[in-house]
Amino acid sequence: MSLADNLASIQQRIAAACAKAGRDPASVLLLAVSKGMPPEMVREAAECGLTVFGESKVQEAKVKISMCPGRLRWQMIGHLQSNKCRDAVHCFEMIQSVDSLALAQEINKCADKQAKTMPILLEVNLAGEATKFGFKPEQLLADLDAINALPKIEIHGLMMIAPWTPDAEKVRPVFRQLRELKTQCEERLGATLPHLSMGMSGDFEVAIEEGATIVRVGTSLFGTRPKAAKGSKVDEPE
Ligand SMILES: *Cc1c(COP(=O)(O)O)cnc(C)c1O
Repeated sequence: MSLADNLASIQQRIAAACAKAGRDPASVLLLAVSKGMPPEMVREAAECGLTVFGESKVQEAKVKISMCPGRLRWQMIGHLQSNKCRDAVHCFEMIQSVDSLALAQEINKCADKQAKTMPILLEVNLAGEATKFGFKPEQLLADLDAINALPKIEIHGLMMIAPWTPDAEKVRPVFRQLRELKTQCEERLGATLPHLSMGMSGDFEVAIEEGATIVRVGTSLFGTRPKAAKGSKVDEPE
């Protein structure tokens, strides 16, 4: 299957999930997760019409972005360390993986220095998995006002990596919980949050049925990611 075939099939599945949920397909952004993939693949995806790409490591993204068409847009979806905030604010149109008040404060500081306002999503760890980053719901609600008060940050919504399961139906309740948590945040802030970033290759249709506005798809689009080459600069851990 070519990338164009994969994309056509994903778009069809997005359209079908939207039809089932009574949603407009234009309300769902397909974020092409290009982490681990070379710039040539990104260029090919761009030629197929994709415009927004997701990366999980700042250093890898920095190098890749410089080798790709300038009109492409990039979003950060991986855990971000505070010493990478400056570059992240520079490279990305949105940081989806804000998982602490301290990180939000650091992004705010960097954005201020670069005379920018940074759209962010707050990453939530709903299932309380020890291996995942993200706010616990209580922590999110406790820190929400402080994050919202940061002048150079705009909260655009919530992001979640759902627990892995071979049966996407099993995670439907978790997607639903994230949507409900967004409603709670909206009530707290007295403002609407446009985005729910949830759903990946294995479960994006269920996520769409539960209200996802951004689905982050890597493997179904690009194929299996090459194994991280140990010691190569691009794969250096953050
Ligand atoms: C890698 C990654 C994805 C894409 O996962 P696939 O299963 O390859 O579609 C989505 N979101 C995040 C945060 C990721 O790190």
